[in-house]
Formats: sequence, structure tokens, C-alpha cells
Amino acid sequence: RTRIFSGVKPTGHLTLGNYLGAVRQWVEVDQHRADALFCVVDLHALTVEHDPARVRRLTRQVATLFLAAGLDPALCTVFVQSHVDEHTRLSYLLECTGTDGELRRMIQYKEKSAQAQAAGDGVRFSLLSYPVLMAADILAYGAHEVPVGEDQTQHVELTRDLAVRFNRRYGDTFTVPRATRPTLAARVMDLQDPTSKMGKSHGVSAGTVHLLDDADVVRKKIMRAVTDTGRDVVYDREAKPGVTNLLEILAACGGAGRAGRGEAVDPRELAGAYDSYGALKKDTADAVVELLRPLRERHAALAADPGHVDTVLREGAERARATARPVVDAAYAAIGLLPPV
Ligand code: ATP
Ligand code: MG
Repeated sequence: RTRIFSGVKPTGHLTLGNYLGAVRQWVEVDQHRADALFCVVDLHALTVEHDPARVRRLTRQVATLFLAAGLDPALCTVFVQSHVDEHTRLSYLLECTGTDGELRRMIQYKEKSAQAQAAGDGVRFSLLSYPVLMAADILAYGAHEVPVGEDQTQHVELTRDLAVRFNRRYGDTFTVPRATRPTLAARVMDLQDPTSKMGKSHGVSAGTVHLLDDADVVRKKIMRAVTDTGRDVVYDREAKPGVTNLLEILAACGGAGRAGRGEAVDPRELAGAYDSYGALKKDTADAVVELLRPLRERHAALAADPGHVDTVLREGAERARATARPVVDAAYAAIGLLPPV
């Protein structure tokens, strides 16, 4: 059976980008057709300046939002990365497989190390090695597919390279995974700066739609989205990044009045239906509010029952551990470590 792994870092409140680019596919498609594991990758949140209490709180919130979005623990495994030791155990072996040069080439390392320096923080060593831990997250489970937004493509490529290299050198140990991504909204852009990706840990709040924002806040953010010069509604990432972003979001919601329930539509065709930016913004705002409404309602119910979330995470960690253990043990043996005697 196809095995799937993916995760989200507890570095901030989940965004519309996280949902459209990743979580929605997990819920609607992946958990039904594969043996899927979804992880709150908390160790990755420690690679930049962080507040311990906030990371702990956000870890619970992300897990709760996974369930609110519709991940069903009867169909898939939901767990927290730091609850399963195999991730860090395997990560070290992959540090011994990858090179300094290939890690320094990672776009996200370049961006996030520049941000850390600009903030006057040191660049943590773990920020450089982060993609190796991510490779361990994926390879420990023998995942075939990794459903992620477009920004993670390079990290999944590195994961493939490490798996292939390890297998060649030490014998067939790892499944070589591939990234999958949604056809629409694989890269939702910031509403105030439509040339950069919407992200949960940076950018101004006005540019980022959070899944738990109140309906009127969501509406306001979308109505105030930065649009482009001119007045024509055209799908063109280069010339009209702001308008194109709204068209992608609306198309991913199935178009106006579909409340996220319709099939995704072609954003180019949608463009033809609008003769003003205002009308496009209004329909996009309505569609996103409707898309998020059930999620916010389920989140409120789940947040009132933390015991349930704990149970899901405990059982998830047990299942995850049982899956990862033999793979990581095999890697330890293959690379030349004496099994415990
Ligand atoms: P951070 O700013 O801390 O990196 P993030 O919003 O980029 O936060 P991640 O935890 O790094 O979130 O990524 C979780 C998943 O969401 C990944 O699959 C990633 O590709 C996807 N994702 C993140 N941002 C977007 C976006 N703007 N559009 C589409 N997918 C996204
Ligand atoms: Mg990110």
C-alpha cells in the first residue's frame, strides 16, 4: 500500500496557504487512498528563535487543527515528531550521508538565515541541518509520497538524493519518495506582498489569513489585499501577482458561491467572469469565509476536549514508532554500527 508522510511546523498559527497547499489534500484525498502519517514537526520549530511555552501551545493547536480540518485517526496516523525518537536517531546517519555544500544551497536556508541575522539572532546550526531531519522524517516511514506545498520541493529532492546515495553505498535501505502537490494554490502568496509566499512565521498579519481568524477579519484582509496596476482581471503571475493570487484562491475554493465544496475550477476561466478587482475580492472573501467556517466550528469543539487530542497523539506516536523502528534499525545495521549486544 502507498505510504504517505507530511508535516507542519508549530511556528505560528496555521494559514490558508498551509491548508490549500497541504492539509486539504491530506484530508480529502491522501488519508483515504494510502497509509498516511501526518506529523506536527515540533523539532523543526526550534531552528529559529522561539518561546518554549508558545511552541508547546502551538503544537497542540496544530494537532487540533489537523483533526478539525478532517484528518480521521481511524484512517491515518496523527502524531508529534518529538514523541518518536526514530526521527533524530535517523537524522544523524543522514548527516553522515549529506554534504555541507548541498545544505548551504537550500533556498529556505538562505532566506531564513538572512532573516535570523537581520533580527540580530545567531544562525542556529540546526537551521542548516533542518532538511536532513526532514529527510529522516520521511525516510523513517518508507514514505512513497510527500504531499507538500511548492516551497518544499527542494527539500524533498534532497531527501531523494540522500536516500539514493545511502542505498547505493550501504545497500537498499530506504524507499525513494517523491513530492506531490495540489494543482491549484500550491503556493499561496502574501496578500500584502504577492511576490512572497504566505507564511505562518513571518510577514505582517494583514497579509496572512489564519485558519482561526474571525470571519470579519478574513473578509477585511482579503478586501484589503494589494492588487496590481491597471483594472483588468487577468491570470498572469508575472504581470498581475496580486490578482492572480486571488484567482488561485477562489479557484481552489471552486469559484464563487461554491464554498469550497465544488471541484476546483480553472483560474483563467474565472478571470473572464470579472470586470473589476472589487467583485473578485468580494467573491474570494465570501468563498474563503465559507471554506473555513466548518473548520473553525470543529476546532472550537475539539479545543474543549483536550483529552481526546491527547489520546489521538498517544496512539499516533505508538503506531508511528512501530512503523519507523525497523527501518531505522536496518539503516543502523547497514551503515556499519554494531547492533546492541
Ligand atoms: P514557516 O514560516 O514557519 O516556514 P509555513 O507557513 O511555511 O511556516 P511550514 O510548516 O513550513 O509552514 O509548511 C507546512 C506545509 O504548508 C508545507 O507542506 C508547505 O509546503 C505548505 N505551505 C506553507 N506555506 C504555503 C503557501 N503559502 N502556499 C502553499 N503551501 C504552503
Ligand atoms: Mg515553511
